[in-house]
Amino acid sequence: MALYWIYPSIFILYAFRPCQGLRNYPDNEVTLLDSVSALGDLGWEAYPAEGWEEISVMDERNTPMRTYQVCNVMEASQNNWLRTGLIPRHGAQRIYVEIKFTLRDCNSLPGVPGTCKETFNVYYHESNSDTPPPLRHLRESQYIKIDTIAADESFTQTDVGDRVMKLNTEVRDIGGLTKRGVYLAFQDLGACIALVSVRVFYKRCPLAVLNLARFADTVTGGDSALVEVRGTCLEDAEELEPTRMFCSADGGWLVPIGRCVCRPGFEEVDGRCQPCRSGFYKASAMDAYCVKCPPHSYSHQDKASECVCERGFYRAETDPRSMACTRPPSAPGTPISTSNETAVTLEWSPPRDSGGRGDVTYSVHCRKCSSESGVERCTPCGGSAHFSPRQFGLPLPRVLVTELLTRTTYSFSVEALNGVSHLSPSPRTLTTVNVTTSQAVSVVLKERRSKDSITLAWHGPDSSEGNVLEYEVTYYEKNQQDQNYTVLKTKANVMTVDGLKPGTTYVFRVRARTEGGHGNYGGEIELETSHEDMLAVGDPNQFTILLASVAGGIVLLVLLVACFVVSGRHCGYIKAKQDPEEEKMQFQHGRVSLPGSRTYIHPHTYEDPNQAVRDFAQEIDVSNIRIERVIGAGEFGEVCSGRLRLPSKREIHVAIKSLKAGYTEQQRRDFLSEASIMGQFEHPNIIRLEGVVTRCKPVMIITEYMENGSLDTFLKKHDGQFTVLQLLGMLRGISAGMQYLSEMNYVHRDLAARNILVNSNLVSKVSDFGLSRVLEDDPDAAYTTRGGKIPIRWTAPEAIAYRKFTSASDIWSYGIVMWEVISYGERPYWEMSNQDVIKAIDEGYRLPAPMDCPVVMHQLMLDCWEKNRSDRPKFGQIMATLDRLIRSPSCLKPLANSSWEEPPSPEAGVSTVEDWLESIKMSQYKEQFSGAGYVTLDSVLYVSASDLGKLGVSLAGHQKKILTSIQSLQDQQHQQQQTHVQV
Ligand code: AMP
Repeated sequence: MALYWIYPSIFILYAFRPCQGLRNYPDNEVTLLDSVSALGDLGWEAYPAEGWEEISVMDERNTPMRTYQVCNVMEASQNNWLRTGLIPRHGAQRIYVEIKFTLRDCNSLPGVPGTCKETFNVYYHESNSDTPPPLRHLRESQYIKIDTIAADESFTQTDVGDRVMKLNTEVRDIGGLTKRGVYLAFQDLGACIALVSVRVFYKRCPLAVLNLARFADTVTGGDSALVEVRGTCLEDAEELEPTRMFCSADGGWLVPIGRCVCRPGFEEVDGRCQPCRSGFYKASAMDAYCVKCPPHSYSHQDKASECVCERGFYRAETDPRSMACTRPPSAPGTPISTSNETAVTLEWSPPRDSGGRGDVTYSVHCRKCSSESGVERCTPCGGSAHFSPRQFGLPLPRVLVTELLTRTTYSFSVEALNGVSHLSPSPRTLTTVNVTTSQAVSVVLKERRSKDSITLAWHGPDSSEGNVLEYEVTYYEKNQQDQNYTVLKTKANVMTVDGLKPGTTYVFRVRARTEGGHGNYGGEIELETSHEDMLAVGDPNQFTILLASVAGGIVLLVLLVACFVVSGRHCGYIKAKQDPEEEKMQFQHGRVSLPGSRTYIHPHTYEDPNQAVRDFAQEIDVSNIRIERVIGAGEFGEVCSGRLRLPSKREIHVAIKSLKAGYTEQQRRDFLSEASIMGQFEHPNIIRLEGVVTRCKPVMIITEYMENGSLDTFLKKHDGQFTVLQLLGMLRGISAGMQYLSEMNYVHRDLAARNILVNSNLVSKVSDFGLSRVLEDDPDAAYTTRGGKIPIRWTAPEAIAYRKFTSASDIWSYGIVMWEVISYGERPYWEMSNQDVIKAIDEGYRLPAPMDCPVVMHQLMLDCWEKNRSDRPKFGQIMATLDRLIRSPSCLKPLANSSWEEPPSPEAGVSTVEDWLESIKMSQYKEQFSGAGYVTLDSVLYVSASDLGKLGVSLAGHQKKILTSIQSLQDQQHQQQQTHVQV
C-alpha cells in the first residue's frame, strides 16, 4: 500500500528530526544505539518482506535519515517483525529504550476493515552472539515481550494537511541483563506506524567533584539498589574522613559522606586547593584559609605551612603556629625583701616586657656572701637553703627562703623565664638583691637569788660582733592577778633585779636588740626569791640554763614591735640601781598580753620642749653630715638628701630637713616637735629618726632616706605596674605602722598617701609627724568652720564636724589610703569641692571601687568608712584581713567593678582601626596607631601590651580596655572562620 498518507510531506519530519551534532541528551545517559544518527542502512531485519520497510528521508540539512514503516491495514492477519542488530550493553545491567513513532488513527482511514490496529509490540532477546535467531522461524518464546505500545496521539489526514505533527515518545526499560547485548524486535499486527527513531541507552552517575574529592563516572546498578562509590582527594588535598557517595539507579549522586581538606600550605578556592601566598600560611589541614603570618614572623615563599620567626623571636615547641613569635621576658622588678634571722621573703614585680607570652615563671638563684679582707666573695648556697613553694619555675613573683644562716649576707638573683627563654642564645637578665639575715639570739639565763633580788646572767650572741645594742629583761610576779610587767634594759649581759618580795616566784624573759631589731624572747624562766635575809649565792650547778633559740618565720615584722626606753620622768621611768647602763620602766597597763606596751608622749606635756628633743632625739654633730642635693620643700625649709657617718658606724643615706633662717622660737619648737615625736617610734613601717642638729644653725632633722619619695607620686609614676599582691604588701606595711602608732596611743590625723614614704625595696613607711602640719603644712588641708585646717578628703566626718580625732578616724583615713593605692594615686573624690565631699559623705555616699579592685578590698574600705566610728575595724583586724588575703590570693580574684573586665565590645561592623578605636572610646590613640603602621583591623589583632606601651598607651586601664577589645575582635574573626568552614 502506498505510504503517501503516512509521509505526505517531508516537512513533517523536519519538525521532529533532532539536529545532528546538536543532539543533547542528559549527561547521565550513555547512548548505545541511536537510529537517527546512523549514517548508512540501519541493517535491521524485517520479516515478511511486505511488512516493515526502511524508508530513507532527508532532513533539513539534506542528510538521509532512516525510518521504518508498516501500514498493511487493509489486510487481515498481519504479523510483521522488525529486529535490530545486537545492541551491546557495555556493562549496563539496565538499559532504556526510547521509541519515537507516529500512528494513524484507524477511523481516519477510509474503508479499512475492523482488523486495523492502533498498537504494536516491543520484544527483546538477550544474547552473546552476533547471530540472532532467524525471524523466519521466529518463535515468540525466544523473545521476551517488553510492552504493547499504544499511541498517546494518533493523527488524521486533516492533521497531516494542516502539517500538525503528532509524535509519540515512549520509554521502556529492561533490567537484569547479563549477556553481551540485546536484540530489539518490533511486532506489528496490522497498524499504520512509522518508527521515527529508536534510541537505546543506559544511565550512569557522571564524574563528580564534591568536598574536594573526585567521584568517578559510575554505571548505575541493575535494579533499584544504590552503587557505593569511594572518592579520591583532589591534588593538594588530604582525606579528613573517607569520602563516599551513592550512585542511584536514576544516575544521580546521593548522600555524600566524609570530606577532603586542603593540606597545610594550601587553601580551598573555587573547589580546588590553591597554595598560600607569601606572607600567609596555613598550619593545619583543618584550618579553612591561609592567614597572615602572626606578628614577628614571615613567610617568603608560597605554600607556607608555618611562618619563620624574625631574628630574636622564637616559637616554643608547644606554641601553636598561629601564635606570634615571642621572646624571653625582661628582668623582673627589684625584689622587696623581708627577713628575719633565718628566713627571707622576696617579692618582686613581674617583668615590664613579658616577651609577649603569658607563661612567665621565675627562678631564684641564691649565693652566700662573706667578706674576706674587705673583698666580698659569694658562693652558691647549694642545698643549704630551702625555697618555698620552690626555687625554680615559680608561677608567682614571690618566694620564701628558709634555713638560712643568721647574720649572713645572701645575694638573691631573680630571673624571669618564659617558654622561649631556652631558645634564646642571649644571656639572661637577672635582678639581684642582697639581704642580710638578722641576729639570732640565743640567751642562756643563770640565776643567783637573795631575799629581795635575783641576779640573772646570760650568754648573748657573740659579743665580738659588737652589734647587740642592748638586752631587755622582762619580769612579772607569777601569782599576781594583774600581771604588771617590768621591763629592764642593759647593755651588759648580767643584771641584778632588786626590790623583789621575799619567797615570791617571778617569771623572767630576756631578748636582745641588734641593728636588725629585736630578736625573739627566749623561753620563760621562773625564779623564786629566798626567804632568808641573806645573800644566797647559787651553786654554779644550780644555775638554770635555758637555751632559747629564736624561731624563724616571716612574722618577724610583727614580732619586732619595739619596746624600748622612754624618759622616766613622764612614764614612771626609774633608773635601775644595779648597773649604770641599766634602765627600768614600769607599766601599769593591767592585763596586757605582751610585755613592752607603752604610750607615746606628746612633746607639749614637757615644760621645756627642748628637753623632749633631748630625751627622744640623738644630737648629731654637723660634721658627720654631708648634704648632697635638694629633694623637696617642707613647711620650714628645704628637704635634702645626704650622707650621715657616725663614729664607728657605716655611712648611711639620709634625708635632711632644715629650718630656714629667720625663724621664730615658736617655729623652732614646732619644727623640732616632729623629731621629738618621731624619735619615740621604732618600727619598720615608721620613718626612722637618725637624730637632730640643734647646736648649730641651720637646725636640722635627720631621718632615714626613702629613695622612692612619697607614695602618691610614686604610684602615679608607676600606674598599673604592680600586682594586687604588691599593692597589698604596701598597704600591709602602712597598716603595720599604723597599728604600732595606735598601740602607742598616737593619732596621726593626716594619714594620706602623700605622707607615706617608699624606699628602694618598696617598703612603705608612715611619716609626717609635725605638730603643726595638720593645721598648716598640708596643701590638702582646708579650713573648717571652726577655723582649724583639716585634709577634708582623708578625714572622718566626726573629726571634721567636732574634731574627734582618734585611731578610728585614722582608720577612716587608712581606707582612703587604700583607695589611693589601688587606684594608683587617683585623687579621692576627684575634682569634687571639699564642701561637696562633706555633704556627699554625710548623705551616705562612699568612694566606688577603683579599677581592678578586688571586692574584698573595697569592702574593707567601706568598713573603714562606717559612719559610726566604733563600727570601723581596728588596725589589728585590718592586718589580719590583709594577711589572710596575702595567704589566699584567690580571694582577690572577684573584682568589684566588673565593667572594667568587660569593656564594650567593638561596634558590630567596624572595619577600620579608626572606627574601632572610636567604638571603644579610645580615639585619642588614632594617630599613634596609624603612625606605627596599624592601618587595617587585621593588623591590630596581635598587638600586645608591650606593643601598646611602645605606642604610648601607658595607662594600665587604657591598655586593658584595648587588649580586651582586641581579644573580642579575635573571637569575632575566629567565629567567622568557623562559619566559613561549616559552609
Ligand atoms: P615633708 O616636709 O616631710 O612633707 O617633706 C617634703 C618632701 O620631701 C616629701 O614630699 C618628700 O618628697 C621629701 N622627703 C621628706 N622626707 C623624705 C625622706 N625621708 N626620704 C626621701 N624624701 C623625703
